[in-house]
Amino acid sequence: MRYNDSAEKSAEFLRLALPLMAKQRAATHPVSYALWYEYVSGANSALRAAIDARRADTDTLDENATYELYQKYVAEINEDVARQIAAGFQKIRADMSMSAAQAGDQASHFGDALGKLSSTLLPANASEGVGTVLALTREMQSSIVTLKGRLDESRSEIEQLRIEVVKARTEARTDGLTGLLNRRGFEMTIAACLADTTATESGPSLLMVDIDHFKQVNDNYGHVFGDKVLRAVAQILQDNVKGKDTAARYGGEEFVVLLPDTPQEGALQLAERIRGIVERCRIKRSTDQGAVANIMVSVGVAGFRAGEAVSDFVARADAALYASKTNGRNRVTVATS
Ligand code: GH3
Ligand code: MG
Ligand code: MG
Repeated sequence: MRYNDSAEKSAEFLRLALPLMAKQRAATHPVSYALWYEYVSGANSALRAAIDARRADTDTLDENATYELYQKYVAEINEDVARQIAAGFQKIRADMSMSAAQAGDQASHFGDALGKLSSTLLPANASEGVGTVLALTREMQSSIVTLKGRLDESRSEIEQLRIEVVKARTEARTDGLTGLLNRRGFEMTIAACLADTTATESGPSLLMVDIDHFKQVNDNYGHVFGDKVLRAVAQILQDNVKGKDTAARYGGEEFVVLLPDTPQEGALQLAERIRGIVERCRIKRSTDQGAVANIMVSVGVAGFRAGEAVSDFVARADAALYASKTNGRNRVTVATS
């Protein structure tokens, strides 16, 4: 886990981040919030050094600088950080609403007590003074009501911000065209998978899937149709994985499937199944409804080996894919160990 901040701690970071955010030229959107949260938490020293260096010359960050820093130093923050941020929001919301409710209660007690006092205990000539105090109390009560209204408003703004932070994080890991995880999302997933897995006979395994002669699909039918083919292949992958399995777009017309609990033998069967489904599928062009055949994929399969680095695991699947290509395409090859 990259951070272990408690809800209290992250609420404190939120309080520290807000004024810093407000000083910048960039707007106070979730991207700038994520940046300044990371900055004040002190856990992201690379980001801190980069901001400190920039602030020394340019004073404040504009939109571009904010996005650049976010991409470079924050976009890879993990789920735990998002959770900490959410916890911070929650804590502040609860604090604010409690303070307002308490202030409201106290004012109303005070008003009631004064009212009783004036009607029962005080001599008639004291009532004018008490009347003034009562009026002031009512004014105080009404400003507390206004304050509470404003707090409620900012609570819902904060809730919106929280939702947007979560959304921004999901979007950063999702491929816009196919809806699968993108490469960054895949890298986070495989890192987490290998971190708490000891290689066993039963997995994990990896498929590397690349569309054959995809450039010709684009050349012959255009990019729009090429995109449709990518979405169709992505859908086939998604339909054929289950549970903990993850299908992702690795880049261009290349996909990966991570199978945490599947042995190499099972992964090979799945790869063959996927290859066959793609070969048989018919994707229609919306212009003339003409069926286009001959979409095929080559696949490389690798079973994880004990102690292997993520990059070596991926490289072996990739080498197996390359062998499928050089041996004629539309086929599956199992990686050598
Ligand atoms: P091979 O069988 O060796 O894999 O050949 P290939 O043509 O599939 O591979 P190559 O790497 O030569 O070409 C991949 C093509 O994929 C080129 C690129 O324009 C296209 N491509 C990459 N991303 C996208 C995309 O998002 N949409 C579309 N339509 N095409 C894309
Ligand atoms: Mg290809
Ligand atoms: Mg390729």
